[in-house]
Amino acid sequence: MPKNRPYLFYELTNSICSTCYRKVEAKVIIQDDLVYLMKYCMQHGREKVLISTDVEYYKRCREFIKPAEMPYVWNTPIKYGCPYDCGLCPDHEQHSCLTLLEITDHCNLECPICYAESSPERSNYRSMETIEKMLDAIVQNEQEPDIVQISGGEPTLHPQLFEILDMAKSKPIKHIMVNTNGIRIAQDKAFVKRLANYLPGFEIYLQFDSFEKEALQELRGRDLREIRKKAIENLNEYNISTTLVVTLKKGLNDGEVGSIIQYGLNQPAVRGVTFQPVQHAGRIENFDPSINRLTLSEVRQMIIDQSGIFAAEDIIPVPCHPDCLAMGYALKQGEQVIPLTGLIDPQILLEGGRNTIVFEQDQSLRDQIFTLFSTNHSPESSAMSLKELLCCLPKVSIPESVTYQNVFRVIIMQFLDQHNFDVRSVKKSCVHIAHPDGRIIPFDTYNLFYRDDKENLLEEIRNEMKRGG
Ligand code: SF4
Ligand code: SF4
Ligand SMILES: [Zn+2]
Repeated sequence: MPKNRPYLFYELTNSICSTCYRKVEAKVIIQDDLVYLMKYCMQHGREKVLISTDVEYYKRCREFIKPAEMPYVWNTPIKYGCPYDCGLCPDHEQHSCLTLLEITDHCNLECPICYAESSPERSNYRSMETIEKMLDAIVQNEQEPDIVQISGGEPTLHPQLFEILDMAKSKPIKHIMVNTNGIRIAQDKAFVKRLANYLPGFEIYLQFDSFEKEALQELRGRDLREIRKKAIENLNEYNISTTLVVTLKKGLNDGEVGSIIQYGLNQPAVRGVTFQPVQHAGRIENFDPSINRLTLSEVRQMIIDQSGIFAAEDIIPVPCHPDCLAMGYALKQGEQVIPLTGLIDPQILLEGGRNTIVFEQDQSLRDQIFTLFSTNHSPESSAMSLKELLCCLPKVSIPESVTYQNVFRVIIMQFLDQHNFDVRSVKKSCVHIAHPDGRIIPFDTYNLFYRDDKENLLEEIRNEMKRGG
């Protein structure tokens, strides 16, 4: 009797070797209801990486796509092939939904998981001139960028933060976010009051990982419980739109997914929670990428199991980059929380509402709904679409006035690292980062190949390619 393979070979893609970062072929296989990436490097051998725990959802993401929106300009030529040409090179398959702008590498924390390796010892502050150049590159690519996220290091420590915010506000950017650990927000009320001047179109992206001392110590190197509490108090007082950002580590804080959502729902200033599974758990001993990874599908299941609000149909892939982004929207009305994403047949997002009585009359409404549910673009304009949408959903009572304050969104944002790297997927990345030299680079490839001295390795790889190696 011939023997069968113990798995199903689902598709073929390209990845990188997690040791030498050279491009390698990778098989996507399904085994025992789990999806793995299997790759082989001639130098470093075979790797098997868990990429999804939900086969059906994984397959659904393959279907859940729409034609890519392009940036207005490309920034680099195609020369060495993906991912060595960032970017954005003309081979990229998505514009920037969100662009990060790092203004310093200085930070008042030294988190063991920091991808930027920021710390109190580092103290480079980008000049206004460089920052303007970076903002202009973002605007050149997008004309009216949806979201620019000012980041670091810890951006609130940049001595010219307010000048930077004024400058960003003077550009045609729809939504500005400040990505912060919240320490200054907790400790300096006059600072928070001044931030409120930038509303609307302004949001705080607040690090918020856990209610537990031990988890905070492990992720951040410090017990930040009081800091978080005080920061939220101050943000509530000035009603500054806030997204809680949770870095999730397997077995550490992944039991708190539901309680953080519930907490967020009870805070007047909080508009949603973004969960980001930490991928490469560098300090964990005996880390095995085939079993120790926390995947998007597991986080999705945790939201479904723990939140008591969102069901499976409410957390859907985001069509611009379905492998790495999932979302759920809810309407918040006092005590009542109504998940909305599941009320829409996901197919209408792709087919333009063919089978629905509600939407078939109105093309502009369909477009608005598509905008609301298919992207995380400009959150405030989503609130307007939501208002229109509610008029058409008989199951939902229409509140007097729906504003951005009534929208609550849950996002899962998974990043690609050297283990789960998939060239097919990274081409669709829509979270980008501005390089000071004017390039706009996908966040995932930036951290692997383009941040600081990582370009040395990239140069080595490119030189090998030139020599035909
Ligand atoms: S990730 Fe995108 S920008 Fe970078 S090389 Fe690949 S296609 Fe080009
Ligand atoms: S607070 Fe943010 S920037 Fe600062 S060290 Fe931690 S992860 Fe890095
Ligand atoms: Zn290798």
